[in-house]
Amino acid sequence: MTAPLDLLDLDPSLTEEERQIRDVVRQLIDDRVRPHVADWYEEGRVPARELAREFGKLGLLGMHLTGYGCAGASAVAYGLACQELEAGDSGVRSLVSVQGSLAMYAIWRYGSEEQKQRWLPSMATGEAIGCFGLTEPDHGSDPASMATRARRDGDDWVLTGGKMWITNAPIADVAVIWARTDEGVRGFAVPMETPGVTAREIRRKMSLRASVTGEIVLDDVRLPADAQLPEAIGLKAPLSCLTEARYGIVWGAVGAARDCLETALAYATTRTQFGRPLAGFQLTQAKLADMAVELVKGQLLALHLGRLADAGRLRPEQVSVGKLNNVREALAIARQCRTILGANGVSGEYPVMRHANNLESVLTYEGTSEIHQLVVGQRLTGLSAFA
Ligand SMILES: Cc1cc2nc3c(=O)[nH]c(=O)nc-3n(C[C@H](O)[C@H](O)[C@H](O)COP(=O)(O)OP(=O)(O)OC[C@H]3O[C@@H](n4cnc5c(N)ncnc54)[C@H](O)[C@@H]3O)c2cc1C
Repeated sequence: MTAPLDLLDLDPSLTEEERQIRDVVRQLIDDRVRPHVADWYEEGRVPARELAREFGKLGLLGMHLTGYGCAGASAVAYGLACQELEAGDSGVRSLVSVQGSLAMYAIWRYGSEEQKQRWLPSMATGEAIGCFGLTEPDHGSDPASMATRARRDGDDWVLTGGKMWITNAPIADVAVIWARTDEGVRGFAVPMETPGVTAREIRRKMSLRASVTGEIVLDDVRLPADAQLPEAIGLKAPLSCLTEARYGIVWGAVGAARDCLETALAYATTRTQFGRPLAGFQLTQAKLADMAVELVKGQLLALHLGRLADAGRLRPEQVSVGKLNNVREALAIARQCRTILGANGVSGEYPVMRHANNLESVLTYEGTSEIHQLVVGQRLTGLSAFA
């Protein structure tokens, strides 16, 4: 975090290497994303393949995984990278999260050696793009009810169904698809050029406009036996991938909030009304102080979860605590910052409303706030209130 927002002096609690990684990603975002992202957002188009290759060069894709060309970074270093990526734009962070924490992680954790060799090195460089298909048009928060089916036909598998709201789908080379079989939920690495697979871009999004989102239709897609991820048994497999990606969001949301607060702080100190800077009014200072307090709390929470992850002790419900709090507070910060910018707050010339709109998606994907409340509630009470 940059001074003066680093109210608690968190910087020294990062290692030299962690700070270096953070600074390199921050520079990349300053050079490669900030100058263009308002246009990408307005046009609803983003050069995702180009960005993926650049991120790949820096080792940001599958950054926390080991082997197969992945960087093997710590969870904290990965989190710091997510924070900087999302300070640029949540859509840009989503590109990296879906590639590394969902598609690559699924193959890395549950795939065969041949599947790992086939996909991971090219995904780590950004030459190949992956997506992760769990959500369906009629099944979002409740993936256990999924309708996509995989049935055996001789040695082959035949997949039928559809996935909705899938980040990167229209540009992907491979989709990790979750489907119901006679033995329960299984995962498949599906090359997007397989006959019967079609991807359609979802347009008119009012959020995450600098991210490609699509629908995947699977029409009797015939796959060889070795397309199935052999170690992925049951719904806990995709849920474990979601835990990985949610961890990145815990950090990322703080990045979006920080960018909003930096913008509002700079604006309030330079814009004058009634003969003095907006920052000189007590009401503005109260807003800034409350937001800065929430920001450092979110930062502390992310760092704590990161240290737990690096110690191998992070539990899914702890990630829910982080995702629930940090996204909710980031959205509140973005909306409050918008008020400080007045009319300029609704302009794309400033990043604040873009972040606020993006965070609406972040609040919903990777488990809605309500679902994370239910996860935490279950931990507290021992009672499942999901259904
Ligand atoms: C931009 C974007 C990108 C996405 N990318 C991906 C992706 O790459 N891969 C993927 O698989 N999915 C992706 N998603 C889908 C996302 O994960 C789902 O939208 C999310 O899980 C919620 O599902 P839903 O939209 O069907 O909402 P629903 O499940 O229909 O929920 C609607 C509302 O009801 C609430 N609700 C549902 N069940 C309960 C309950 N038991 N108790 C209380 N409240 C409840 C929810 O919290 C929510 O407020 C993406 C979504 C967006 C917007």
